[in-house]
Amino acid sequence: MAGVTEFSGDVVVLRVGTFREADCWVRFFSPQHGLLTGFAFGGRKSRRRFCGCLDPFSVVHFRVGLDRLRRYHCLEEGTLLRGFPGLKRNIKNLGMMANCVRFFESQLFDPEEYAPSYALLVETLEALENGPAPSSFLPLLFRARLTFCQGYQPDFERCRGCGQGMDPHHRAVFAVHEGGIYCLRCASSAVRTLSISQATLRLLGALGQSNPAEWARWNLPAHVREECARVVDAFVHYHLGLRSEGHGFYRC
Ligand SMILES: [Zn+2]
Repeated sequence: MAGVTEFSGDVVVLRVGTFREADCWVRFFSPQHGLLTGFAFGGRKSRRRFCGCLDPFSVVHFRVGLDRLRRYHCLEEGTLLRGFPGLKRNIKNLGMMANCVRFFESQLFDPEEYAPSYALLVETLEALENGPAPSSFLPLLFRARLTFCQGYQPDFERCRGCGQGMDPHHRAVFAVHEGGIYCLRCASSAVRTLSISQATLRLLGALGQSNPAEWARWNLPAHVREECARVVDAFVHYHLGLRSEGHGFYRC
């Protein structure tokens, strides 16, 4: 089966489940191999092989093998590299991380996206571990950044109609299908648009050059948060076919 290979490397643990009392399955993300599930047989009992490693939102070095018929991954042993105890003690931060991870797990990653997506995941864990009181807006910015780094980066500088830079005194229009902006003069030639303020435009433009530690400190006015949420949700729905519903994200 494609994608099943032995390796050793650092991963982020996303989700852990138990079956048959002492055995676990572990959903994790590797910067070389992407999103994988492996089985840790006896994992719940073996402190020697998996001490502190079978806990979601941890960075772990795993030795990953295969079962006898080479059909699935078996976790042979792990070393905990970073456990993020501050994040795990804070219920609000834990909720934000769970929200980011649910979106992350619903993605279909191309191999060239593994390393930048892994880096974003680790930076988000660090921001929620160290930040004083991160903005609850962080998961939305995480979704936007992850979508943009999958080859859908819109140009937030120039109008797709006339090619001019945006007038800082006027609102602009975001074209959801095309993934770009229009000035008010050219707006009528775009379909499926959302009106956005210059502040929202600057925020979306800054997302690619900033990291989650900075987002956690951003204090955004309500209208910017609302516009940004509308743009990101519409964009993610159109380009990735995902809709947020309750506690999950669904392909539609
Ligand atoms: Zn224009």
